[in-house]
Amino acid sequence: MSNPSLLILAGDGIGPEVMAEVQKIITWYGDKRDLQFDVSEGLVGGASYDAHGTPLTDETMEAAQNVDAVLLGAVGGPKYDVLDFSVKPERGLLRLRKEMDLFSNLRPAQCFDALADFSSLKKDVVAGLDIMIVRELTSGIYFGEPRGIIEEGNERVGINTQRYTESEIARVARSAFELARKRGNKVCSMEKANVMESGILWRDVVTEIHEAEYSDVELSHMYADAGAMQLCRWPKQFDVIVTDNLFGDLLSDAAAMLTGSLGMLPSASLGAPMANGRPKALYEPVHGSAPDIAGEGKANPCACILSFAMALRYSFDQGTEADRLEAAVEKVLADGVRTADLLNDEGVTPASTSDMGNAVIAALDASL
Ligand code: NAD
Repeated sequence: MSNPSLLILAGDGIGPEVMAEVQKIITWYGDKRDLQFDVSEGLVGGASYDAHGTPLTDETMEAAQNVDAVLLGAVGGPKYDVLDFSVKPERGLLRLRKEMDLFSNLRPAQCFDALADFSSLKKDVVAGLDIMIVRELTSGIYFGEPRGIIEEGNERVGINTQRYTESEIARVARSAFELARKRGNKVCSMEKANVMESGILWRDVVTEIHEAEYSDVELSHMYADAGAMQLCRWPKQFDVIVTDNLFGDLLSDAAAMLTGSLGMLPSASLGAPMANGRPKALYEPVHGSAPDIAGEGKANPCACILSFAMALRYSFDQGTEADRLEAAVEKVLADGVRTADLLNDEGVTPASTSDMGNAVIAALDASL
């Protein structure tokens, strides 16, 4: 059987720096766990614009469609702010998400015990937190028509349309229920069925899918505004939260910050199953290209490393190895290794990007 394939698009700014640490980990899995990947590399974002005049070439797009998973670093930077909207670095990422039809965006919010003091919430509220927000990513108000700014009488009117089809809701609901079965077996669906028809349909379809296919999973419903409050009050009540594109954008950012640093947050975007049964998938850290620290060896590679752990779990059926990698990151943090973003104390010398990567490799070695 051929090895699973992985396309690496390191991108811009700190993207290549954090990805270099993931490459070491991929090599480790080949050497020490006999887990080989066919790794190819490509350009995305500003790096692709510099080389080809476009943030994503057709060849790279095609390569992304034909691998088992794509791992992306980050795109963007001030150098590209002057570019026309159509060739801005972010357009490369948006094209990947759109053409791969990655409708289910998984954003875990997990609080490692060693970092519980870093949250703006009390330690007992966040210590041990492990929730997953599933955000619908390809429809809803960011894409609905009509949209635009029109003249009406003597003033301008801004218009966006929230629109969901049953099938769009059903597929992201299934994705959330499937995930819940592999975790705490609980789904909370969030919408605004009290004031929005699209919310009423959302609640109906999630309930129908639950009754027909996933009655073994515990399902609850919550209005998204109440959900935002509950996320800050007692986030540990949740396991999987499924919600639409707009509410998911807000709720996942809020949940992310429960856990402390942007440098720790991975994500996955999944699409429909391919011929081999694996979902189309793109894994990336939540953070951007961090131009303020790019090239200085200060970036925390954990978000990118944990994104690779998600790839092991969701694309490569390597749940045990994903657990091993996550445990290695947890051990390194418990041992006190900290990049600058995880330090409040100016008197302590921070670990560099490669120090952190090497510490994770050492923890992986120790796990054998
Ligand atoms: P950012 O996430 O790049 O940085 C925000 C802050 O967090 C900065 O102070 C940065 O130094 C810090 N930070 C981020 N990641 C870190 C890490 N791994 N380790 C340590 N510190 C880290 O967001 P921004 O500054 O708003 O955007 C910078 C550029 O990135 C922009 O061009 C933006 O469009 C782009 N961006 C890209 C993505 C993506 O590729 N998915 C996401 C967000 C922003």
